Amino acid sequence: MTVNLLDYDREGLTHFLTEMGEKPFRAKQILKWIHQSGSADFSEMSDLSKGLRDKLAGHARVELPQVLRDHVAADGTRKWLLSVGESNGIETVFIPESRRGTLCISSQVGCALACTFCSTGRQGFNRNLTVAEIIGQLWLADKTLRDSVDVYRPMIPGQDRQTERMVTNVVMMGMGEPLTNFENVVTALHLMLDDHAYGLSRRRVTVSTSGVVPAMDRLRERCPVALAVSLHAPNDVLRDDLVPINKKYPLKELMAVCRRYLSAAPRDFITFEYVMLDGVNDSITHANELVELVKDVPCKFNLIPFNAFPNSGFKRSSSEAIRVFRDVLMQAGLVTTVRKTRGDDIAAACGQLAGQVRDKTRRTAHGIADSIAMELLQ
Ligand code: SAH
Ligand code: SF4
Repeated sequence: MTVNLLDYDREGLTHFLTEMGEKPFRAKQILKWIHQSGSADFSEMSDLSKGLRDKLAGHARVELPQVLRDHVAADGTRKWLLSVGESNGIETVFIPESRRGTLCISSQVGCALACTFCSTGRQGFNRNLTVAEIIGQLWLADKTLRDSVDVYRPMIPGQDRQTERMVTNVVMMGMGEPLTNFENVVTALHLMLDDHAYGLSRRRVTVSTSGVVPAMDRLRERCPVALAVSLHAPNDVLRDDLVPINKKYPLKELMAVCRRYLSAAPRDFITFEYVMLDGVNDSITHANELVELVKDVPCKFNLIPFNAFPNSGFKRSSSEAIRVFRDVLMQAGLVTTVRKTRGDDIAAACGQLAGQVRDKTRRTAHGIADSIAMELLQ
């Protein structure tokens, strides 16, 4: 069985090559071919000797997830459904904006954490994605978008002033909880940051987490990138309900780990995400409680109008409620933006990503079982 070179960051590839008796610097050349030239074929790698190319062909491969569907929304948002085997599918979304293009990447097939308002969480959990499946999403998007750059440029004012790269930012906000797939996510992050691969700055790569506290400390130590934390409630009683992992790592611990993270973070603030659920977490009292909760954490807020999915049981807060809520935060000196909902005509907005999950927790059949999510975290 050959190895998939997409599973390796520079360190891993160097190790693989030296084991084969090759020089370590070959790793940089091969990374460039794979991740910068978008090559999956060793015979194209013209600055490698014929002998090495043949050896690679015998021991290794570059294997990508298969594209099952590719949708472009009216606003230019693009969503790919990718097959990762055994009828499991994941979704990747590209969001073109003026002067930047953001790719939203998935980290797991489904999610075990069962947040009640999240479509991915409702589907249960199958497995962690491999490094190749995580970085393969960026590989595919980068290559496809560069090939269709003429279609996109007119849609993106200011984009023509950029390099030929269309993906300028990556957010780990697709399906899954990135910090419960820690090692694979960190290896994929290394590739995103490596100058011989995608060369993105740490500030332009964001991990979003629902608050897996010990893994947040490990991320700070191993690979500090920009951090978004899904807060969604200003007190433990409500957050226990909406984000069940809060029962394991309550708000006091979450605020403390956010402060620790900032000592190494590439940005001097944490982004708190807060989904706006009508009549659930969107009152003025909640906003005031939130101001008090985060008073010792340098942060910005991103309010996300709830995106509906079938049988969610929740409603999006009214525009008026969102405006009032934002004003309370702003008046307390907290920079607050309201996320524009993008691509909802192709169900590509936050929390709508569903892919195809063969649920192994049987959550869908037996109702949402928090205990299963907790077990998977041990
Ligand atoms: N598991 C990670 C990252 C993926 S979810 C996390 O929870 O942070 C990305 C963001 O979308 C999170 O802030 C999540 O809470 C939010 N989200 C989930 N379901 C949503 C929905 N139906 N409408 C709006 N935002 C949602
Ligand atoms: Fe998982 Fe994030 Fe959805 Fe919660 S919001 S179920 S952590 S993907």
